[in-house]
Amino acid sequence: MKRDGMLDLNDALQHPGRVISVDISTDMPGEADVELTAPIEGFLEAESTGNQLLLKGEFKTRCTLQCARCGGPLEQDLSFEINEDFPVDGIASMYAQDDFARVVAEEDFPIFEENNLIVEALLHQGLIVSLPQAPLCAYGWDGDCPEARNLPRATPSSSTPLESLASLLEEEQP
Ligand SMILES: [Zn+2]
Repeated sequence: MKRDGMLDLNDALQHPGRVISVDISTDMPGEADVELTAPIEGFLEAESTGNQLLLKGEFKTRCTLQCARCGGPLEQDLSFEINEDFPVDGIASMYAQDDFARVVAEEDFPIFEENNLIVEALLHQGLIVSLPQAPLCAYGWDGDCPEARNLPRATPSSSTPLESLASLLEEEQP
């Protein structure tokens, strides 16, 4: 059922009401935005209502983040849930001789290839939204952090150098 990171969802799509359930474990070889120190592991369930495909799952992993104050590495557990629905076109083949159900592809960030789920693309989305906004090492904002001692005191709202540069460039626009 699973090949090349693809999960064929036709069994669910062509049989509304049937739940397919898979255990997933992946090292996320294409993950460029988050530094994972453990595979993403969990389970995924897919079910079609006829006009919607429901995806539900729970996953956990470990990753290295950067402390928002001192920039030091911060390894922490991360868990996230998947709870998504996608429109379905066509009539499930269990009801139709000459038609079949197709999940409607999203344009900007595809997570389906026809009726195959690109598992790692879905997990990437779940991972990104579950990341803490400003992770902090054990010293927090006010502790006597040896890494942060020589740095100007940062605040959660301080902008990154790139953001400052971007706002400078914007100001120069006519
Ligand atoms: Zn820190």
